[in-house]
Amino acid sequence: MQIALFDTTLRDGTQSEGLSLSVEDKLKITRVLDGFGIHFVEGGYPGSNPKDVEFFRRARELRLRQAKLTAFGSTRRAGVAAASDPNLGALVEAHTPAVCIFGKSWLLHVTTVLGTTAEENLAMVGDSVAFLKAAGREVVYDAEHFFDGFRADRDYALATLKAAAAAGADWIALCDTNGGCLPSFVAEVVAIVKQTVPTRLGIHTHNDSDLAVANALAAVEAGCTMVQGTINGWGERCGNANLISIIPALQLKMDRRCVPDENLARLTELSRTVSEIANIRPRAHAPYVGASAFAHKGGAHVAAVEKLTTTYEHVPPERVGNQRKFVVSELSGRGNVRLRAIELGADARGLEKEVLARIKELESKGYQFEAAEGSFELLVRRTKPGHAAPFEMLDVVVISERRRGNEMFVEATVKLRVGDEVVHTVPRARARCTRSTAPSTRRSSRTTRSCARCSSVTSRCASWIPRRPPAPRPGCSSSPAWGLIAGAPSASPRTSSRRAARRSPMPSSSPWCAPG
Ligand SMILES: [Zn+2]
Repeated sequence: MQIALFDTTLRDGTQSEGLSLSVEDKLKITRVLDGFGIHFVEGGYPGSNPKDVEFFRRARELRLRQAKLTAFGSTRRAGVAAASDPNLGALVEAHTPAVCIFGKSWLLHVTTVLGTTAEENLAMVGDSVAFLKAAGREVVYDAEHFFDGFRADRDYALATLKAAAAAGADWIALCDTNGGCLPSFVAEVVAIVKQTVPTRLGIHTHNDSDLAVANALAAVEAGCTMVQGTINGWGERCGNANLISIIPALQLKMDRRCVPDENLARLTELSRTVSEIANIRPRAHAPYVGASAFAHKGGAHVAAVEKLTTTYEHVPPERVGNQRKFVVSELSGRGNVRLRAIELGADARGLEKEVLARIKELESKGYQFEAAEGSFELLVRRTKPGHAAPFEMLDVVVISERRRGNEMFVEATVKLRVGDEVVHTVPRARARCTRSTAPSTRRSSRTTRSCARCSSVTSRCASWIPRRPPAPRPGCSSSPAWGLIAGAPSASPRTSSRRAARRSPMPSSSPWCAPG
């Protein structure tokens, strides 16, 4: 059975605290959703703000392959003819193939929020749907607070749906607007509605009880064929139903078709791309798509997964475009070491026991190797018989200073022995003393930048350390703006990374001082 996916990231999702999308962002996300195979993309509320009006104006130029762009609004106001209602007019002016309007199902809201009568509310629902149908739109009617309304007054809540159905609504979406329902109640109510109303049903759930996904899936099992939700579950308060979790559940576990299988394999990409556009950090522990969703850490688990992945994985990660990962820590077994080394392009065969013992010893002292791929890789390499270090670090001196009227400077000098030669590296950093621009210790220790023009950082002086900022090299008129020196590529509880560990410790030659 085919399920229609109705994405409301651009409307309900943007009601999430801390999430704001520009018109450009919304256009990009619309294209991404369309490319993935979402059926309805709710773009915004054209009657509520100029940004959404501009979005719908510019969205007309999008060549969407599948998604029906949908404008969102509400039923007409009480006592106003539908044709005279400015919000309904704005919906038509949005020129979208589909519109979604919400109306009241809960008498409490009818009387206390709208301040009108039960009868007028029914007329508002019917008139609004009929008006939009007459304008040639596919109409999705969102029955706001339907489950709460049903609990309070079943007959009235159902009467609102009948009004929408009689007026020609194409879809009726039942909303758990306050997010307080349990899956069993949702399923029971959907089954009753299905027997009462002939219109295709959708489900719109919120996550206030951490059950939005479960409630949406229960509704599908009970007969809904449209699921409304947002990418990554963003939404007001605790969020909306997370389409990123719902889509694979429907397709891989409930035999409901949503998107082609090849698109499902881009689910992780979809989640992360939309996060990037929205400038929201992806959640590592997000089901299906998080960086940790298929990370195996316990030694016994890794040993089992090495034999058969289904022992500790509910779906194959590649079906949703994610990757299996083996984490190395004091909880590891030999399999973690072996498999993680292979992932990093190193060979730890025969060394597992020795490497593991060293990791456990270091972690007992406070080191962490989970995210320190570089340190782990070096540890493996150093454990190999015959390993020779490419250099020896002799001394490090770091000086930070601020002179009158100038910015903060940080100067680091590192003395290394490379073969028979002793060298100093003397990079110079100009750090701004603001939170927003000063790199963190962890980050800066991985970062090497060079002068934009001359790019040199090394002194081949065995003993002399410059006390003043050096003159730029010939042809370089810029003030030297050096980045911080790369962290020493040894195992560290906080500074290791594959990139840092692999960075050459020997920058190019320097004009800063003559050989001493
Ligand atoms: Zn909602």
